[in-house]
Amino acid sequence: MDSALGPPDAMAEKRDELTPMMRQYHDLCARYDDALVLFQVGDFYETFCEAAERTARLLEITLTSREDSTGEYPMAGIPIDNAESYVEELLEAGYRVAVADQVEEPGETSGVVERAVTRVITPGTLTEDELLAGDDNNFVAAIARDGDALALSLLDVSTGDFLATSSTASESIADEVSRFDPSEAVVGPDAPADLVPEDCMVTPFDARAFDRDRAGEKLSTYFRNPDALLASDAEIRACGALLAYAEYVRGGEHEGERGEDDDRRVDAVFAADSAHRLEYITRLTRYDPREYLLLDAVALRSLELFEPRAVYGREDATLVGVLDETASALGGRKLRDWLRRPLLDPDRIAARHDAVDELTGAVQRRERLHDRLRDVYDLERLIGRISRERANARDLRSLRDTLAVVPEIRAQLADADCDRLQDLHANLDPLADVRELIEDAIVADPPIEITEGGIIAEGYDEDLDALRETARNGKQWIDDLEEAERDRTGIDSLKVGYNSVHGYYIEVTNPNLDAVPENYQRRQTLKNSERFVTPELKEREDEIVGAEERADEREYELFREVRREIAEEVERVQALADAVATLDALVSLATAAAQYDYCRPEILDRDGTGGDDGLVIDVEGGRHPVVERTQESFVPNDARFDDDRRLAVITGPNMSGKSTYMRQVAQIVLLAQVGSFVPARSARLTPVERIFTRVGASDDIAGGRSTFMVEMDELATILREADERSLVLLDEVGRGTSTADGLAIAQAITEHLHDEVGATTLFATHHHPLTELADDLPAAFTLHFEVDQEDGEVVFHHEIAPGAATGSYGVEVATAAGVPESVVDRSRDLVAEAADDPIAGDDRDQSEVSPVDDAGTGQATADGGERTPGSRSSSEPRSDVGDVPTDVAAELRALDLAHLTPVEALTELDRLKRLLEE
Ligand code: ADP
Ligand code: MG
Repeated sequence: MDSALGPPDAMAEKRDELTPMMRQYHDLCARYDDALVLFQVGDFYETFCEAAERTARLLEITLTSREDSTGEYPMAGIPIDNAESYVEELLEAGYRVAVADQVEEPGETSGVVERAVTRVITPGTLTEDELLAGDDNNFVAAIARDGDALALSLLDVSTGDFLATSSTASESIADEVSRFDPSEAVVGPDAPADLVPEDCMVTPFDARAFDRDRAGEKLSTYFRNPDALLASDAEIRACGALLAYAEYVRGGEHEGERGEDDDRRVDAVFAADSAHRLEYITRLTRYDPREYLLLDAVALRSLELFEPRAVYGREDATLVGVLDETASALGGRKLRDWLRRPLLDPDRIAARHDAVDELTGAVQRRERLHDRLRDVYDLERLIGRISRERANARDLRSLRDTLAVVPEIRAQLADADCDRLQDLHANLDPLADVRELIEDAIVADPPIEITEGGIIAEGYDEDLDALRETARNGKQWIDDLEEAERDRTGIDSLKVGYNSVHGYYIEVTNPNLDAVPENYQRRQTLKNSERFVTPELKEREDEIVGAEERADEREYELFREVRREIAEEVERVQALADAVATLDALVSLATAAAQYDYCRPEILDRDGTGGDDGLVIDVEGGRHPVVERTQESFVPNDARFDDDRRLAVITGPNMSGKSTYMRQVAQIVLLAQVGSFVPARSARLTPVERIFTRVGASDDIAGGRSTFMVEMDELATILREADERSLVLLDEVGRGTSTADGLAIAQAITEHLHDEVGATTLFATHHHPLTELADDLPAAFTLHFEVDQEDGEVVFHHEIAPGAATGSYGVEVATAAGVPESVVDRSRDLVAEAADDPIAGDDRDQSEVSPVDDAGTGQATADGGERTPGSRSSSEPRSDVGDVPTDVAAELRALDLAHLTPVEALTELDRLKRLLEE
């Protein structure tokens, strides 16, 4: 265990002898032993002993020490006023942080000030705006098991978004985890922890929280009939446990609940009352992964949805970067959610297309909407803060400002044609009552502090107004006093002043002291003057100060009342937030469509495909949405797939456009199902249920698995799970191993996909024999990219054409790239030799394999994913086939690939490899 966590050894040894404050620290560390405890001492959060040494190093703050009668303890502290940035660094370093605040005023107590952990900050449960990306959700997940079923629940504690799903297949849960990319996962007893990616913090939590009955009870404090909401006991476990966890980390931050001594963790798990309830968690969406286009982690990455591929060197070179024209954080999150979960249902897709269509055409309306949407605050997080009693008066005014623009937004939709926009028009409730309440109660420009007055508007509360009147009158009396006393005493320089220690006073300069009347009482002597008070002045002062204090208290009380009253409306605010978010996302899609000249795709019904189950993809003049943004001109290409054309073998030299083409087909499909228009002249598509990609030998060196293993693992998934509603992209599969193996596997896979799976497949390959195979398979066909040579230069046209490529031009690419003449010459010889070599001629693709083409061009591969440390370099000539013992070569040649299942082929290959290694 990390020595910075838990009670420090130096304190544990002598717990009972420690000073009361240090004992508090010790005990809190013991109770929150999985978190770094930040311990408030005045204006600082302190850490001690090992924790101090650790934080000092991590945060680059000074390590000091604290000495008392029991010893000397290393100490490091961060100022409370800007704790956020430090906390962020601690989270990044992989720590949870327990914030132990002083929960008593130092003056209120005779002994040591009571401290309590008011919140535990973990990566998945942040609510601080400063620590969160505005336009993306931050999820904490819980994974639970019940019998065969695994369930996943996801919660964004800052917005209240709450989802659940389950499956008996752990891969399916893993896919959903990568879809939502949680930053933290709470894993239940006997649920596998390896379903979450490495950058996700795994949090152990009280196993009892996952208990079926406990979880059910917890859920029913939030939702009336959780059993009807969810589909399985596993889901109930996951959801109930996650709520308990959220209460544990956030529930204690309600103001007013201070200094309880009980263990919050246990409390959160067992209390079935609603003491720590997070009121803004009002909606739980149970979904079935099969309702959405399924993208596994590999597809998410290779289709550049959210993360750029290094080659373009631009951070916004992603699908979301191209499409995101949203004006508000709400819209940004909605758009990302849509991209994460493309739809399958043609009606739902068409509803979005209708709206985008209408907005694309209405330029002015779209721009006005965008403009107004910019003034929308993050309603979801606002209402979250209001509900958690963390909002200040400015937050309430922000809510009011947002509500004030809603009628204008709504007006833009008054004569909308399509259903979706009409619905939005109906659902954009401007919450006039809430707005009025805020306008009546809260001044226009309130301070951040909520306990020091200046918040509540005049005329809102009679008591407050009376107190203010008293204070005002008193002040007026004092203002008048100066004038009156000058007259009375004849001292022209007499002044009435105020300071915070002595209160109001009358100041007389030394030369005038003779004229001071009898009722003045001396208070303070300065160098050149004396200060006096009178009984009446003190009386007035008490009145003013008393009234002001009571006014501040009254204001705080009223403010909390107003905040609670608004919190009651959480569901209406959330519904409004959802409508605004949806509108913003639609406007964003329309803006992108207009800006980049996208077309509306036609979504074909399953039935519209002629009764068959296969996919139809018919794209004219398609473009790659991301690549076309990163370079000057882009050559559009068609793509045509249906039942008779299901499998395309795509050949062409390096850099000719194979990878780009395949990805653009998948991205067009994906965008269409998101509800977006697509970069094409026209597109007709049936909804795809899953997209699989296998892109070259991307290495997994960090994971410690060989590239080939990774490749086979991913291929196995595809072969197992793909069906005729799947789109499969295979890009240079089989590079991670020797060419003979690679070809055998590629061929077996092709056949299997064609004969058994029936998936729509695009297979870019350097294995030339595959193009011949395509001739034999009825629904397979070939495509290729041609290049020309002009004056020894290679010219890329990026134009796809039917048929197989004639040559690889690898050597020519090398020339163009500036590889020395002698090397190029030698390469030509080798190519020629290879063509004559009977062994290579059998099993290798002589026209495509030249050492220079494979590795010697000296430039990075086009998509950064195809070259691996395992692949050969030109200094290490390809001699392995020559070295193959004849028996293995003979066995290889005898293999009847056409009649092997993929698994048999793999087993066979494995055996042969082992033979070779011996
Ligand atoms: P391959 O996979 O055949 O090696 P890529 O698809 O990686 O080739 O394409 C290489 C580069 O060529 C891309 O990075 C892009 O800059 C350019 N390119 C690809 N397709 C097109 C196209 N249709 N129009 C214009 N440029 C393209
Ligand atoms: Mg490529």
